[in-house]
Amino acid sequence: MKRIVIAGAGGFIGGHLTKALKAMGHQVRAVDIKPLIRWYQITPGAENFVLDLKNKESCYQALNGYEEVFNLAADMGGMGFIETHKADCMLSVLINTHLLMAARDLGILRYFYASSACVYNGEKQSDVNNPGLKETDAYPALAEDGYGWEKLFSERMCRHFKEDFGLTTRVARFHNVYGPFGTYDGGREKAPAAICRKVIEAEMYGKKDIVIWGDGHQTRSFMYIDDCVKGILDIMYSNIKEPINLGSAEMVSINQLVDYAEEIAKHKLKRKYDPTAPKGVRGRNSDNTLIKKYLGWEPSIPLKEGLKKTYNWINEQMIENKGKDSKKVVFNEI
Ligand code: NAD
Repeated sequence: MKRIVIAGAGGFIGGHLTKALKAMGHQVRAVDIKPLIRWYQITPGAENFVLDLKNKESCYQALNGYEEVFNLAADMGGMGFIETHKADCMLSVLINTHLLMAARDLGILRYFYASSACVYNGEKQSDVNNPGLKETDAYPALAEDGYGWEKLFSERMCRHFKEDFGLTTRVARFHNVYGPFGTYDGGREKAPAAICRKVIEAEMYGKKDIVIWGDGHQTRSFMYIDDCVKGILDIMYSNIKEPINLGSAEMVSINQLVDYAEEIAKHKLKRKYDPTAPKGVRGRNSDNTLIKKYLGWEPSIPLKEGLKKTYNWINEQMIENKGKDSKKVVFNEI
């Protein structure tokens, strides 16, 4: 049994990871800035702390007496959020910086950092037929403005804390993660959850149209949460010293994603395209050569299968919350 801290445990991925580590028998300290009532999951037996990890003292308090750290805390969201909250996204640098300093000073044995495909050079993502981003495609650096630069800088902090202070750090670059117990409204939601919500809303309120950001031809890959949690654990306890992709290589267009959601709902909608909405890069996919080489595994849960579970969960939440004020996080609330 290890003593493990999860930063950002009240969020989507952190909530699932807390549950998995607790089920493995570890002692888990779950930390988030949000009041407990807004955490997506509360795992029985975990010790829950509400702290702002941008503050240095809070990071020392969070890590004191513990052995390992998973840092999943960040002020982030989908394209709609990161394109309009660049300074907020960049301020997450304080979380990773202070957590690394506390980890170094308190003798933490292993430290995981959640990076993102947003670190990749934008010029390598200008075609919908993206062949897959290799880890080396992060340089020469031209990351997503704001959010991506913060991730790239924080990756490098992990590298230098390893080189200069001997802290064992592991970094994974997540490509769009989706699944139940995540954000689906309020402005921070990402494409799969947003599209499920819009299809459900159409059914619930008898709407005939769905608004799609951009022209719908832009491409992405989406990784189901169970693959993400397995990948995080395998990378954390591996010997992989450099940042590595953790994403699905099943690339689809946003139009295909809408097709899948409509198929699940058995409900066809008229598509209205909004060219002025935030769209992000034109095409993005994960090249999984490296993860397959190191782990003999890659995320492989089919999008249709994961989307069905996600759709069903969002549907349940929306039925439960119909007529009530949404309890989910909204802009600037944290
Ligand atoms: P999330 O927003 O659901 O979870 C992040 C959590 O961090 C939130 O609960 C938030 O309250 C918490 N947090 C923010 N500021 C904090 C602070 N100052 N102190 C303490 N807690 C704070 O996001 P997620 O989807 O679970 O993402 C987890 C990590 O993975 C993030 O670092 C994110 O950038 C990264 N990531 C996620 C995706 C994805 O598709 N979900 C893709 C790439 C990278």
